Amino acid sequence: MSVLAVRNVETFYGAIMALRGVSIDVEEGEIVTILGANGAGKTTLMKTICGLMDPEKGSVTLLGERIEGMDPDRIVKKGLALVPEGREVFPYLTIEENLRLGAFTRRDAIGGDLELVYQYFPILKERRKQAAGFLSGGQQQMLAIGRGLMARPKLMLLDEPSLGLSPLLTQEIFGIIARLNAEQGVTMLVVEQNAHIALATAHKGYVLETGRIVMAGPAETLRNSPDIQEFYLGKS
Ligand code: ATP
Repeated sequence: MSVLAVRNVETFYGAIMALRGVSIDVEEGEIVTILGANGAGKTTLMKTICGLMDPEKGSVTLLGERIEGMDPDRIVKKGLALVPEGREVFPYLTIEENLRLGAFTRRDAIGGDLELVYQYFPILKERRKQAAGFLSGGQQQMLAIGRGLMARPKLMLLDEPSLGLSPLLTQEIFGIIARLNAEQGVTMLVVEQNAHIALATAHKGYVLETGRIVMAGPAETLRNSPDIQEFYLGKS
C-alpha cells in the first residue's frame, strides 16, 4: 500500500528553484532513504512533505489523500510524524513530559506507548524525571525519535538522524531505526548525508542532486553502483 507519493514537485525560495520536479514513493513497511550532498534540497523536500513549505507545482499524497498546501498540524493529525534535524526537544521539560507531548494528537491511553518507547530506549526510562536539556546529543536524538513514535505515526520522517553523532552512536540509532521498522512495522523516510549507514539500513533509496532525483532503486543496487561508491561512499 502506498503511504507517500510525491509527484513532480517544484518548490521555490523566492526565485530560487530548490526542487525541480521531484517524485518519490514510500510503501507501507519500508525504510526509504534520501541521499544528497549539502544544498541538494533534502530539507526542502522534507518541509514540502510536512507542509512547512508549499510546492508551486506537483502533488504530495499521504495514504491516498492530497496534502500539499495543507497546514502542518493537520498533516500531523493524518499520521505523519517529523523527527527534526537538530533534535528540538524541550530542554526544561522532563524526558517523560517531552514524550507525552508527542502524543498530543491522541485522546486514548498512552501508557503502553511510553512503555514501548522505554523498551527501545532504556536510557530514557532511567532518566525520565530529568530535564531533557541534560541529555547528550545522542540521547536527545533518541528522545526525538521516541516522541515521534508516541503519535503512532503512519509515516515517520527523520531528518539527518546521524547529525553531530559519533560513528558508534550513529550505528546505535540506525540499529534501533531498523528494529522499530522490523518489529513494530513503522514506515520511515530518512534523509541522511551518511550514505554508508543509510544504505545499510534502508530498503530503497533516492539520490537528490541540485533539486532533482538522479538515481533511485533498491538500497543494494545503489550500494553497488560505481557512481554511488565514488561520490557517496568514498570508494574509488
Ligand atoms: P543541508 O544538508 O545543508 O541541509 P539540503 O540538501 O537539505 O542541504 P536545502 O536546505 O533543502 O538542502 O537547500 C536546497 C537549496 O535551496 C540550496 O541551494 C539552498 O541554498 C537553497 N535554500 C535553502 N534555504 C533557503 C532560503 N531560506 N532562501 C534561499 N535559498 C535557500
